[in-house]
Amino acid sequence: MDPIRPDPRRLVPRTDAVLADPQIAAAVARLGRPLVKAAVAAAQQRARDGAIPPAEVARDALAALPDHAASLRPVVNATGVLLHTNLGRAPLSDAARRAVEAAAGCADVEYDLATGRRGPRGAGALAALLAACPAAEDAQAVNNNAAALVLAATALAAGREIVVGRGELVEIGDGFRLPDLLAATGARLREVGTTNRTTAADYAAALGPATGFVLKVHPSNFRIEGFTAEATVAELAALGAPVVVDIGSGLLRPDPLLPGEPDVATALADGASLVTASGDKLLGGPQAGLLLGDRALLGTLRRHPLYRALRLDKMALAALEATLRGPLPPVTRMLHADVQDLRDRAAALATGLTGHGVDARPVDCAATVGGGGAPGVELPSAAVALPADLAAPLRARRVVGRVENGRLLLDLRSVDPADDTALRTAVLAALEGN
Ligand SMILES: *Cc1c(COP(=O)(O)O)cnc(C)c1O
Repeated sequence: MDPIRPDPRRLVPRTDAVLADPQIAAAVARLGRPLVKAAVAAAQQRARDGAIPPAEVARDALAALPDHAASLRPVVNATGVLLHTNLGRAPLSDAARRAVEAAAGCADVEYDLATGRRGPRGAGALAALLAACPAAEDAQAVNNNAAALVLAATALAAGREIVVGRGELVEIGDGFRLPDLLAATGARLREVGTTNRTTAADYAAALGPATGFVLKVHPSNFRIEGFTAEATVAELAALGAPVVVDIGSGLLRPDPLLPGEPDVATALADGASLVTASGDKLLGGPQAGLLLGDRALLGTLRRHPLYRALRLDKMALAALEATLRGPLPPVTRMLHADVQDLRDRAAALATGLTGHGVDARPVDCAATVGGGGAPGVELPSAAVALPADLAAPLRARRVVGRVENGRLLLDLRSVDPADDTALRTAVLAALEGN
């Protein structure tokens, strides 16, 4: 080999040397050694392949490092689906994020700082839930709504019957079927009525000594139209057995925008013994299962050994309390955003992009609440329409839109206005391929 031009592979810095670089060392402190070492190894390989100069190894490795030690990355949800299950459902409010941060270390989740003794777990979150739902005698929060149903079914109906309408044996998504979940608890499902019509008399005929409770489930992701009938919560409550109502979305009180969506206050006023709901749907909080209603039944649930396996962690308790007590969460603001404001944002964004030569147009469109609730409800919205081939490069920049009629729409109803600038930057970067 030519002695004046040594093999470039020999010039690639050794791993120890790269790890000694102060910025790389700082990255090790932030992200841990394995992640950084892997990035360094990949950069060394690129240098050996001649893709980067050997002197660039540290810089290249630093550029490839993630922001966090976890692989979950923040994305901008421009799909127009407010509660996008694949994108983490409800985004937390700033107040809830700060509460999570405060609870992340050691925190007084089960400790009374005044007495130095053990305190009731998550008392603040439960008090906030009760303050938000004055009609409830008591409240409990568990891991998610599925856990709330499992706990209710196990504690109140194992070895007995859950009386449920045939039209309400729903699949929530991704193969998760409510009847399978309930049957797994050892409770027997006593199905009544037909797919499209079920009356209070159907339930009444099925009640007996084996009844654990009557279950009413909100079909939150589909609608049955036409020749239909269902028993109301009030009719079921009049039958005498405990009535558990799974409202799904966690709406605390009626919302005029969502006339078909059940809410906690109405279900309790109509005589439900227990209401179950998710924390991360229309409530706008963290993943959680809310249980509200009868004090004696909730006591039974809390005393069941399974409760321990389903309880909520301190960070979710903190986020739930802050969601309930703090400023309106993003989901509520997005749901109620004025369409003219959305149009103005779309116009401003499109103008800014057209100025850079992008084929961008503001358009009217329809957003939806999503799998988390309000099936069939369309929310008037506005979007920036872009060439559809920008969809993949934008996803690479963590912006997810939806393709409709051959155009990529960035629907602004599901985007926090504070992210509009990030959208603009991402589109320009996607266009320039950097
Ligand atoms: C979403 C939903 C569930 C499941 O809730 P998770 O919080 O995801 O466990 C159960 N029932 C209904 C009616 C729902 O809409």
